[in-house]
Amino acid sequence: MAVKQPLFIGGEWKEANEYDELRSPYSSEVITEIPKATSEETEAAIQAAENAQEEMQQLSAHERSNILIKLSTLLQENREKAAELIAKEAAKPIATARGEVDRTIQTYVFASQEANQLYGETLPMDAAPGGERRLGYTVLEPLGTIGAITPFNFPMNLVAHKVGPAIATGNTIVLKPASQTPLSSFFLAELLQEAGLPDGAINVITGSGRTVGNQIVTDERVNMITFTGSPEVGKEIRSKAGLKKTVLELGSNSALIVDEDVDLDNIISRCVQGAFTFQGQVCISLQRIYVHESIYDTFLEKFVEETKTLTAGDPLEETTNVSALISESDVERALSWVQEAENEGAKVVTGASKQGNIVMPTVITNVAPHLKVSCNEVFAPIVTIDPVSSVDEAIDKVNDSRFGLQAGIYTGDIQKAMKASDQLEVGGVMINDIPTFRVDHMPYGGVKESGTGREGIRYSVKEMTEMKFVMVNNN
Ligand code: NAD
Repeated sequence: MAVKQPLFIGGEWKEANEYDELRSPYSSEVITEIPKATSEETEAAIQAAENAQEEMQQLSAHERSNILIKLSTLLQENREKAAELIAKEAAKPIATARGEVDRTIQTYVFASQEANQLYGETLPMDAAPGGERRLGYTVLEPLGTIGAITPFNFPMNLVAHKVGPAIATGNTIVLKPASQTPLSSFFLAELLQEAGLPDGAINVITGSGRTVGNQIVTDERVNMITFTGSPEVGKEIRSKAGLKKTVLELGSNSALIVDEDVDLDNIISRCVQGAFTFQGQVCISLQRIYVHESIYDTFLEKFVEETKTLTAGDPLEETTNVSALISESDVERALSWVQEAENEGAKVVTGASKQGNIVMPTVITNVAPHLKVSCNEVFAPIVTIDPVSSVDEAIDKVNDSRFGLQAGIYTGDIQKAMKASDQLEVGGVMINDIPTFRVDHMPYGGVKESGTGREGIRYSVKEMTEMKFVMVNNN
């Protein structure tokens, strides 16, 4: 009988009324049983966050900062345990999972720094007639309770991007992690308790998005929703959140442009990494590559050769590069999209097969833009590689998308690079790198159906605070 994971509400571990099995995406073995929070339990979590607001707001900046420093130290001490949790629940290859833990530690360090940097500004009030001898300044105040709803693919670091800045700014949190990967969040709650966060300042509840998630989104005591996940759910949340602040970090079909003057030996392994890291289940995974026709054949050949060196297998094996997708239905979906592309004249150069829930790294060429592998978010180890006659043509192709998260361009021509940075309809342009590049303090977010608002700790801090203006009349 698997051990049951309790809920974390108001600083206490509480047995739930109902449970679901949590299974390994790789082996299908039961890992544990996960609470399916009822409406009453969700209500208790929201109320606990509301009750903790006063204590949280009384903490000074350096106290909030110290909690976050302590948290990052605890995570460092538990690095291997944390990586194994991610590897088990998400089927993330262990080396990649360690990388996520290291980034998470960084994210909390950045958040601890931001806690001490909540500057307002002083206004030159006498710039307007009538403003003479008045002092005007702004302060940044916490919003209150923040509802954080997170996806399965970075169960620690994407949670950190919500929890870190929320603590830095003195907010309380109701966290609903993805049902497939809740263990990282419960572990976080354990560490935060040890780090001295006031009871109720973070509450972790699990269950279906449609019930638990929806209740958080529609509850009037929750002042902001910070969501990372699919565009479909993002749109639903937006339509239900009313006047609540919402930050939505959604999906994409990110693209890369490779110009004719690039030394391919310097970029191939990086491109393969962009396409297949964590089996392509990354919001900025490299899904579409547009290569100048003069080097297209060589690029394709080298890319496929490198792809074939990847090892598929158990996420806990050190040598594994690619493991199982998060669910069997995602395997079926991804392979059916490849089949659709083949039926419509695309060519599969390698992959398109499966071993259990592992989809083998797949490269497809001659892909029309309306096919699902190109225009939808594929979220699987599948990449399309097609030739273009110019960077201008490639820019048009990249922009021919309902998404706009990040894009990349490799070129030795500064003018083409600047043109791309100017014309690409995305939240971030990576010059001489893949669109998959991210470090945790840079602004991060999308346009079009890739979302609204920005993360990256300093930018989340802005989203998670309300600016208040104060005027002192000295007349
Ligand atoms: P998902 O949208 O299925 O689920 C995300 C979260 O929303 C889960 O916690 C889920 O339980 C919850 N949810 C589901 N329905 C809900 C509802 N009606 N109301 C409230 N909450 C609900 O996403 P996923 O499959 O876990 O993650 C993959 C998606 O996340 C991809 O689209 C990916 O691109 C996106 N993503 C985006 C970023 C980014 O920063 N832009 C980062 C990582 C992942």
